[in-house]
Amino acid sequence: MPSRDAALARAAAFFDEGGYKTLLTDLVAVQSTAQEPGFEAELDRYLAAHIKPWVERLGFTAAIHPNPEPGFGPILTATRIEDPARPTVLLYGHGDTVRGLDEQWRAGLTPWALHEEDGRWYGRGSADNKGQHAINLAALEAVLAERGGRLGFNIKLVLEMAEERGSRGLREFVAAHAAELKADVLIASDGPRVDPDVPTIATGTRGIFQFDLVIKLRAGGVHSGHWGGLTTDPAIRLNHALAGICDARGKILVRDWLPQNGVPAEVRGVLDGCPVGGADGAATIDADWGEPGLTAAEKIYGWNSFIVLAMLSGKPDAPVNAVAPDARATCHIRYTVDTDPETFEASLRRHLDEHGFRDIVIEHAGVRMAASRTPPNHPWVSWARDSMQRSLNKRVQIIPNSSGGLPGDVFIDHVGTPLVWVPHSYNGCKQHGPDEHLLIAPAREGILAFAGLWWDLGEGGTPRA
Ligand SMILES: [Zn+2]
Repeated sequence: MPSRDAALARAAAFFDEGGYKTLLTDLVAVQSTAQEPGFEAELDRYLAAHIKPWVERLGFTAAIHPNPEPGFGPILTATRIEDPARPTVLLYGHGDTVRGLDEQWRAGLTPWALHEEDGRWYGRGSADNKGQHAINLAALEAVLAERGGRLGFNIKLVLEMAEERGSRGLREFVAAHAAELKADVLIASDGPRVDPDVPTIATGTRGIFQFDLVIKLRAGGVHSGHWGGLTTDPAIRLNHALAGICDARGKILVRDWLPQNGVPAEVRGVLDGCPVGGADGAATIDADWGEPGLTAAEKIYGWNSFIVLAMLSGKPDAPVNAVAPDARATCHIRYTVDTDPETFEASLRRHLDEHGFRDIVIEHAGVRMAASRTPPNHPWVSWARDSMQRSLNKRVQIIPNSSGGLPGDVFIDHVGTPLVWVPHSYNGCKQHGPDEHLLIAPAREGILAFAGLWWDLGEGGTPRA
């Protein structure tokens, strides 16, 4: 007699007996970086040689589509329909990675060969995102086996290969295939848990609004002896402008960029008691940095952050005795749906003008990734939380959005699904840098959680039923 416990036991056995590690080893070995030319064939191979045959074996009908934007990686869609009257879930993942940074990994590690050490699996894509979608599909396989080749629900998969280039083409693709991708809920995985030990559901993502601040005063540098003290120094002007945007302890001073009535009550509610941890030496959480009066969780899940990504004046690698001609900074705002990015540039212009910085020009301003949020008390979110708590026997933390970015807005806008992101990684995983890794213990919880979710989806009693 098939049972929920037996489905979880199958998933656990696959994981514990090395099946998952072998799978992840094969996926990591595909050098599917989307950020370096020359690896286009690897982007194709990830889908054609690994994901497509796998999901076809699970009974999906799969197709690999060219990206609607030339020069960007392909997109795989796969559908497995048992009964249109049953719930349909949309699963998302991305098989592309950031660049390997091969020479920066510590001795003994290399990005494209999985390496196990101290409860971690090192390898590019282990956390972002190969390891995460592989957990979800492996759990699906366990449930399918336990139910004797039946799921009891329908599933659709979108796996893109250009996420690390801003998911270029995904919006156009999903818009064009909206009918085919129609589903009741998106349940998928990327990004970190709030803490490695705390199973997490994120119901959206923060967005990114990026811009350059530029001050250009003259054609070239001028002698620092003859002109310093006489002519305006662009680096000093730019630094004062930045100081007017954000104070010395990280509080944003352009108050129009922020949720007007503070952290909304429902956001504050779900974040009450939410831990933030597991940075594992990657960075410190500085209590006196950022918006005063907010908890660490409220700062990154319920508020906006301002970050200077890069700044330059003169030639730092070869300074000359000159007042520089210009200065430039590239900045961005990580914002929640509680603010409107359409107003950010005008607010900044007004703020700079009011503070005497008409000489600072804003360039290349715009949304790089949109914010999204499903209400944290949405029935599908509560359903998923209850299912996970039953499987893992521990509390699940809901957050109103992840701190980073994901293309959830595309699925809300074109497919209309609520978002249930269940991350399997953690803040210290070093995705986007050398030594990326997946923690084995949360990954094991992840496969159990998904075996439970997939099982429960086939049992009835879902929000739609
Ligand atoms: Zn990434």
